[in-house]
Amino acid sequence: MTTMTPPTGRVRNSAAPARDWRSYATCRETDPELFFAIGPHSAREIAQAKRVCVGCPVRSACLEWALDTGQNHGVWGGLDEAERRQIARNPFSHRAVALANQEFIEEQLAAKVSLRQIAAELGIGHAAVRHAVAEFRANREGVEEVQAA
Ligand code: SF4
Repeated sequence: MTTMTPPTGRVRNSAAPARDWRSYATCRETDPELFFAIGPHSAREIAQAKRVCVGCPVRSACLEWALDTGQNHGVWGGLDEAERRQIARNPFSHRAVALANQEFIEEQLAAKVSLRQIAAELGIGHAAVRHAVAEFRANREGVEEVQAA
């Protein structure tokens, strides 16, 4: 029986293939604690873990593994547990993926990456990214309106 092993060595399995997706994980050299943050600084640590995931070449495989195996804790594939639960409820929703990746999308847009490239990175349609961006802007404008009132 072959069991997939997460990239950071959080679970060990000697039966895993020598060069599967975990071999290419960006987080291999990162403290695993960052990906399982608890306590008063957890929000900041989760954000840091997600930043590690942003440029990871095996992000999709990692997220797929986490969803397939029902990982309930930690950051996997750039998403925290709440974001993965949202996707798990509707795994075919490109919108769910786009909304769960707001920070990544906004970072990429700030770096002048095209919507199509962002969509390709996330493995979803570019229309879903375009709609999500409109939703982010509407939400931000709503917050600014409330603050100005
Ligand atoms: S997506 Fe994040 S958690 Fe997954 S392998 Fe890459 S860096 Fe590690």
